[in-house]
Amino acid sequence: MKSNEIYKIFGTDYTAMTREILERSELSELIGAKDKRIGIKPNLVSPTPPMMGATTHPEVVAGIIEYLQAHGFNNITMMESCYCGGDTMECFEVCGYDKLVEKYGVPFVDAQKCTYTNIETAGMKLKIADCAKDVDFMIGVPVMKGHCQTRITCAIKNMKGMVPADEKRRFHTIGLHEPIGRLLTVVRLDFVVVDHICGDLDFEEGGNPVTCNCVMAGLDPVLIDSYVSKLLHYDVSEVPYIGIAEKLGCGSTDIAGASIVKLGRNGEPDATAPDENLKLTRKTVDLRDALEEVDSCSACYGTLVPVLERLKEEGLLEELLEKIPDHVIHIGQGFQGKTGHVGVGNCTALFEHSAQGCPPSEEDMYDTLISYLNEARLRS
Ligand code: SF4
Repeated sequence: MKSNEIYKIFGTDYTAMTREILERSELSELIGAKDKRIGIKPNLVSPTPPMMGATTHPEVVAGIIEYLQAHGFNNITMMESCYCGGDTMECFEVCGYDKLVEKYGVPFVDAQKCTYTNIETAGMKLKIADCAKDVDFMIGVPVMKGHCQTRITCAIKNMKGMVPADEKRRFHTIGLHEPIGRLLTVVRLDFVVVDHICGDLDFEEGGNPVTCNCVMAGLDPVLIDSYVSKLLHYDVSEVPYIGIAEKLGCGSTDIAGASIVKLGRNGEPDATAPDENLKLTRKTVDLRDALEEVDSCSACYGTLVPVLERLKEEGLLEELLEKIPDHVIHIGQGFQGKTGHVGVGNCTALFEHSAQGCPPSEEDMYDTLISYLNEARLRS
């Protein structure tokens, strides 16, 4: 496989498709010596089954493990940490990774419980899990998804699972794109297998999966993310961390020079297969107008999005925003110690109305906003 190539294969036997795409990529030759320590990093952001569109299908990881073991690689470790405040081992079980450990004898490391090392990179210090440093070859297995704050998430951002919870929070305070763009200078990512089976193309925590039944593979994470941006109808410049990673030498955004190779049923390139034309969707991005957001954590923002969607579906969002004096709901660490009208999360504790929690539950956010609306109706 060349660095400017991205392979794609379609079907419903995800394990067999993954094995086939890896054979075609000649992954074993890319890895080299059989005793190399190989890391597999799926996306287990939340305790939701992969069919919901947020987490990596275990069938894809099974295909990677079967391929590696069949080629004599047996020093393999899966590793991940979930969203801030979550329990990675709960995600591990809900997503079916306990069965992979049992079936293939491959260990899983909860990176939340790892030791960490501060590494200086391009004028910034990043805290990285030691389990990620202790591998000779890392295979990322992200889900291709939309993201409510960064627009897309795939190969590069998936590696954020290799930083501890406090560091994930800090990423939000220093502007997500800068640290994410530097991630690949401190965490190795040698090969990427993209779960493009049914990711939610709007929201990283899923809920609206879009069935595509595709697995993609490539060597260049920057090129893969550039291609994903294109598939989701964004210009690469609209996802700044991709350009930052390119400037730091982590890959290329040159989509015009990329070769998208669609594999047919026999694993051979099928030049006649048209590429995908995914429907333009901007559900969560559109909801951003309802917010004043400064340095919010994904856990808080991700909880608020379905609340806003629910209020919108119930026809209440517009009325609610009209009744708030500044017409927005506040969220994020940037409001700590500040006052205002309506906010969610402990960071807005001094606001007149605030859903408490770090992050608050979806129900608490909903109840706070509904009770504000009801009180405002009575006042008017
Ligand atoms: S309350 Fe503040 S610190 Fe806690 S999750 Fe929300 S934004 Fe992050």
